[in-house]
Formats: sequence, structure tokens, C-alpha cells
Amino acid sequence: MTQIAQNLQEVRAAIAAAAHRAGRDPGSVRLVAVSKTVDLERIRAAIDAGQDLFGENYLQEAGDKIAALGRQVNWHLVGHLQSNKARGAVELFDLIHAVDRGKLARALDAAAARLGQVQDVLIQVNQGGEATKSGVLPAAAPALLQEVARLPHLRVLGLMTMPPWFPDPEAARPFFRALRVLRDHLRGLTGLPLTELSMGMSGDFAVAVEEGATLVRVGTAIFGQRGTE
Ligand SMILES: *Cc1c(COP(=O)(O)O)cnc(C)c1O
Repeated sequence: MTQIAQNLQEVRAAIAAAAHRAGRDPGSVRLVAVSKTVDLERIRAAIDAGQDLFGENYLQEAGDKIAALGRQVNWHLVGHLQSNKARGAVELFDLIHAVDRGKLARALDAAAARLGQVQDVLIQVNQGGEATKSGVLPAAAPALLQEVARLPHLRVLGLMTMPPWFPDPEAARPFFRALRVLRDHLRGLTGLPLTELSMGMSGDFAVAVEEGATLVRVGTAIFGQRGTE
């Protein structure tokens, strides 16, 4: 077994264990293998090990990989996106995780309209209120969601967050829980199902699953340390 296959097996087992602890069906959690800066050989090793969903951060890099590997697997954009790259993102990605402002949402809606598509998106919430992180502040999330929900070529599936970094994953728990509570509130407000919660990375995905994550974005724990980005 390759190292990547073994890492995947361990991550999947940890997701399943966390789901069981929370009384959840492990099948309700999808693993997004975050493959930014990871070369094609290692992505192929993950595909050979059964991984069928990858997350990328940069359009150019993702475009090259998708051209090489094709649509045998699903591709999500997990990182920040500039409005002027909306069209490229709609062309490449099944789900865009980080819609955090009206301008970007309108650009994506226009790009999807021109391509005759409906684009699935998540709203990124800056749950920790950190100045260095993108994401809409929780207090502004209802207005942004209502704006995005009115755009005919976007479909909002749920919320995404990146909490502050802590050495102890337990410290991230209140942020994951707050995202779920916010989701429940927004669901009541809008009547939208908002089934997806994208939260948890290599250091804290088990805690995120215990708090309701349906998409965990895991890079390092699968592919090893990244070089300089
Ligand atoms: C890089 C990245 C990840 C993966 O982080 P790891 O700590 O390597 O698991 C998850 N989410 C986003 C938005 C990222 O940019």
C-alpha cells in the first residue's frame, strides 16, 4: 500500500469513529482531499486508493490538473476567489466553498448564466472574526445568504468556515458548533435546506465531524507537509 493510501485509510477511519461518537452516519461526511501544490502522481495515488473528491485553491493549478486527470473525480474550490476569476471557477468546479461577498456572488451568477449552468456554492463565514481571514462576519451572514439565494444561477448548499488556528483541536470546537447553530438559524429564516457544513482540516477534522461537518477539507494528513506555496 502506498503512504497516501495508508493515510487515506487512517483519515477515513478517524472520520467514521468521530461520526459514531456523535451518533451520525459516517456516510453523511464527505472527505475533500485538498491537493493544492500536490503533483499529479500523488493525486493519482489517491484516486487509485478510491478517493474521488479533491479540493484546490488556485485556478491555474486546478485547471492544469483537471485537464490532465479529467472528470473521473469531483473538484471543489476551497480557497478564496477573486471576482474577476468567476468564469474560470464556474468552468472548473462542482462546488465553490468560499463565497463571502455580494460582488463575488453576482460575478459567479453572471458567469454561470453565460455558461447555461447553475453553480453550487457555500457561504464562507469568518466565525472567529479574524482580520486576516476571509468570510462574511456571522452578523452579516443572513443578508448575504438572502442576496445569494435570489441569484437564479447559484444554488447555496450550506456554510463553510476556517476557525482560528489552535494547537489543541478542542479549542476549535466552539467555532464549529457556532457555524452549525448559525446554519440552523439561517435554515429557519430562509427555508433553504442548507445541508452542507464545510469545516475541519488536518488538525481538527474529527472535532468538526463531531459538531456536524458534512465536508472535511484535509490536505496534510493525506499528502504530507506542503512545500512553500
Ligand atoms: C489548504 C487548505 C486546507 C487543508 O489544510 P490541511 O491543514 O493541510 O489539512 C483546508 N481548507 C482550506 C481552505 C485550505 O486552503
